[in-house]
Amino acid sequence: MKLILLGPPGAGKGTQAKRLEERYGIVQISTGDMLRAEVAAGSAIGKEAKAVMEAGQLVSDDILVRMLASRLEQPDAAKGFILDGFPRTVPQARALDRMLQDKGLRLDAVVELKVDDAALTDRIAGRFTCAKCGTGYHDVFKPTAKAGVCDSCGSTEFVRRADDNRETVAARLEAYHQQTAPIIPHYAATGILKTVDGMADIDEVTRQLDRALAGV
Ligand code: AMP
Repeated sequence: MKLILLGPPGAGKGTQAKRLEERYGIVQISTGDMLRAEVAAGSAIGKEAKAVMEAGQLVSDDILVRMLASRLEQPDAAKGFILDGFPRTVPQARALDRMLQDKGLRLDAVVELKVDDAALTDRIAGRFTCAKCGTGYHDVFKPTAKAGVCDSCGSTEFVRRADDNRETVAARLEAYHQQTAPIIPHYAATGILKTVDGMADIDEVTRQLDRALAGV
């Protein structure tokens, strides 16, 4: 299965992608995670991307398209994948069409997680992640059972993204509406676009996703 999860920052793409990975045995490809790894490694791409990401803007199409093309060449992508955070612009969507066409592949579904902007800032501003196993939490909506200890692996180290603050979220939402939302009609025209209510609770969103993907 080859999927795109679309939606603004805080819509729940990462959380649902992790669940889909397990359910379908396919790999989550998060371009945000890939860029954060480049920043942490201090690579040339990371150096170029860091300030752009911290400002809540989009990194250049050129970098992203090359990065995704080489990621899709990895053996673990052969069984299928969930794209989380790519494509984010119309040129990226067109480049992806070409990449897949060259490989003789096609997307099975594009799922849009629909959410109200008003809810997103609160969702994003409280997010944190276990530094060891990557389990995601939220100060208010999903705290750890025992304060300061990861429910999944027991680690006491957590990380917060540099761009998960109220100021940057406004810029990220604007980038979504201006540059990413225009790709929705691109996929609607192909007949593979599905829409899920991203305002529902996490398990309900998963159920809706299962239903949306049942026939693909
Ligand atoms: P995310 O983790 O998907 O929220 O991405 C975090 C940040 O990485 C975004 O705000 C952008 O600055 C950058 N980024 C991730 N994916 C892309 C993409 N496909 N195109 C451009 N910038 C991206």
